Amino acid sequence: MRDFTQDHRWLSINTATVRKSRGVEVPLTDIIQACAARGIRAISPWRDQVAATGLAQVSKLVKQHGLELSGYCRGGMFPAVGADALKAARDDNRRAVDEARELNAKCLVLVVGGLPGALAGKALHKDIALSRSQVSDGIADLLDYAKTANMPLAIEPLHPMYAADRACINTLEQALDICDALDPGKTGALGVAVDVYHVWWDPKLKQQIERAGSQRLMALHVCDWLTPTTDLLNDRGMMGDGVIDIPLIRGWVEAQGFDGYSEVEIFSASNWWQLDCGEVLDTCITRHRSRV
Ligand code: ZN
Repeated sequence: MRDFTQDHRWLSINTATVRKSRGVEVPLTDIIQACAARGIRAISPWRDQVAATGLAQVSKLVKQHGLELSGYCRGGMFPAVGADALKAARDDNRRAVDEARELNAKCLVLVVGGLPGALAGKALHKDIALSRSQVSDGIADLLDYAKTANMPLAIEPLHPMYAADRACINTLEQALDICDALDPGKTGALGVAVDVYHVWWDPKLKQQIERAGSQRLMALHVCDWLTPTTDLLNDRGMMGDGVIDIPLIRGWVEAQGFDGYSEVEIFSASNWWQLDCGEVLDTCITRHRSRV
């Protein structure tokens, strides 16, 4: 297992972590500057942040600072009702691949979607099996396109509490079943993003990380699970503040040959987003060295 205590060369910042500074939205340009100023070598930006700044401008800045993208957030949200909505999802995912390509991301992260309409507050049906089959079909279709763009797709299983509104793929095992069905040759075109927040509780986690192997392990996202957790989405903890044994999981992932970035991804409306962006990044560096 790599020694992270001496430097932060394998730290990546998911830009949602500093989406807000003292409660105010931070432009992606400022986030990039703040990361570069601290010797952070990689980021993983969100599409809405990139769109707000402009893809060309972000691409230019990323190159200028020599930043790598440990991933691009995000594609997915495949399930839909009706041919038009399914096509809209398909087209949007292709655009996400194109953007990830332009930014030279290591992978496009897929948050696959749950029951159509649920995220907006009203699910249009209760058929989660249908959603799962649409996810599988959607990834199959996108995979063909992503291969032509040479952009790997990383399925991110989400904690089961998000099954209705964000992702009906909730375990690494489910994600790997899709990978094995659609990419049996383990070509490197399809894999998984392991986010400790979503999978730390899973009794099969170690076994499934071993099953994934280096070809499927495309990203490692870290933060912590707070007790109590006061918000289902926006109360993630800083590494070391919660109950996840992050070094244990990183050890399992690295034992398979994963040698990529450890990406800090924290959504924290009432804590970290209320602090100064620079202070949060400094804390990420310290905790990356001591608690990851
Ligand atoms: Zn994640």
